[in-house]
Amino acid sequence: MRKTIIVSNRLPVKITENDGEFTLQPSEGGLATGLGAIYREGNNIWIGWPGQEITDPATQEKIAKQFKQLNLMPVYLTQDEINNFYEGFSNETLWPVFHYMSVYARYEQTYWDAYYQVNQKFRDIILKVAEPDDIIWVHDYQLLLLPGMLRAALPEISIGFFQHIPFPSYELFRLIPWRAEILEGMLGSDLMGFHTFDDTRHFLNAVSRVLPVNTTANVVSYNDRAVVVETFPMGIDYGKFSSLGNDPEVLEQVQSLKENFKEDRLILSIDRLDYSKGIRQRLQAFELLLQLHPEYIGKIVLYMIVVPSRDTVPQYKELRDEIDKQVGNINARFRTLSWHPIQYFYRSFPVSTLSALYNFSDICLVTPMRDGMNLVSKEYVASRNNNDGVLILSEMAGASKELSDALIVNPNNLGAIIRAIVDALNMPLPEQQRRMKPMRQVVSKFNVHHWVKLFMTRLKEVNEMQQNML
Ligand code: UDP
Repeated sequence: MRKTIIVSNRLPVKITENDGEFTLQPSEGGLATGLGAIYREGNNIWIGWPGQEITDPATQEKIAKQFKQLNLMPVYLTQDEINNFYEGFSNETLWPVFHYMSVYARYEQTYWDAYYQVNQKFRDIILKVAEPDDIIWVHDYQLLLLPGMLRAALPEISIGFFQHIPFPSYELFRLIPWRAEILEGMLGSDLMGFHTFDDTRHFLNAVSRVLPVNTTANVVSYNDRAVVVETFPMGIDYGKFSSLGNDPEVLEQVQSLKENFKEDRLILSIDRLDYSKGIRQRLQAFELLLQLHPEYIGKIVLYMIVVPSRDTVPQYKELRDEIDKQVGNINARFRTLSWHPIQYFYRSFPVSTLSALYNFSDICLVTPMRDGMNLVSKEYVASRNNNDGVLILSEMAGASKELSDALIVNPNNLGAIIRAIVDALNMPLPEQQRRMKPMRQVVSKFNVHHWVKLFMTRLKEVNEMQQNML
């Protein structure tokens, strides 16, 4: 029977070790939820790295058996591969360039070699289970070479690829020494998807400049095959975030937030630690706001969660130290005996706590310098069952294309961020509702299940079209 193989760098699972015993817990990320309906069915399978180094062959085999029961298949990476493929080429080369922060990028041959070799490792594991009439859906920037490698081995197989981060303008992309190989790898797909029209356009532009190919509208003719490139903005599990608002545990947490913050107005900020998220500029804007509008001292609180991430990469460690310092300075400068301007947490929280915060906060402040989509902004919207609350959203986040009723700001324009916060604090309820309602409709309709269905349906259509062209 025809099966679907999902491939991503990380498996949707958390492994915990206790006295040499491993327990596997499915993780609840948006992608895992969206693809859950697919990979758990029949003999479908999800292939990826379990997220930690496991070296002992006996343990590897044991865990692989546990994985199999969940329709998952592990790709084990060595510490060297984690360093050079994952932290190296993926996170120190592709991530910064694709997020327009090319000054942070390192172009190391050893990183590239490891990237190539790990993509081959994924290919070899996939080839052990793939049949020529299967469908393979490859995800994200760690596996850009994989579609091409799979195509070479199985010319007739159906391959979809989705990129979850931005695709940069050609002027940025061309900086990468291995740009042609990367595009050739991606073009092994039949259907390629990006979050926004701009990403799609940038990709098509890069292809036509770097490679000797013909592109017409959104179709690339490559090696006598038609590759279709389209925009599929990813959604969230709207139902989950909307209904969590009625969960007793969430309600209890909302109540304790109410008791804690009383009359204070809460501005919520949630990101992974990353220089692309604009956290330092956001803090700068908040500091300036308190300086220019002392009437808000004692009345507003910035509730800021930064989730630890990539802390072995030097720039991330530095960023963390800088944020610590900045928060410390602002709190020292403006605090009173009974009030702190910033409540700062450097850790992650369970979804029930996030839901309580989404429900309780008057404002959600999302100002990345660059973000493929940004799910936090959509989760805030989905949580606002009363249609109130104000979303302030960077125009550099993919989500801003859909959530156009947010207060849209340029994240480099501190004055604009300050004005947006003041506007949000003073926004009458009818205007809040007038903006929130259409955004909730969009997030509800274009949810993650819709996104998966749309991509899979389109992939089948593309394959049929290719058949008819033969
Ligand atoms: N998140 C979480 N725990 C936290 C904070 C955030 O699980 O303590 C989740 C959040 O709900 C969202 C995701 O992390 O689904 C962040 O996704 P986003 O697209 O905003 O940014 P990314 O980290 O993917 O760049």
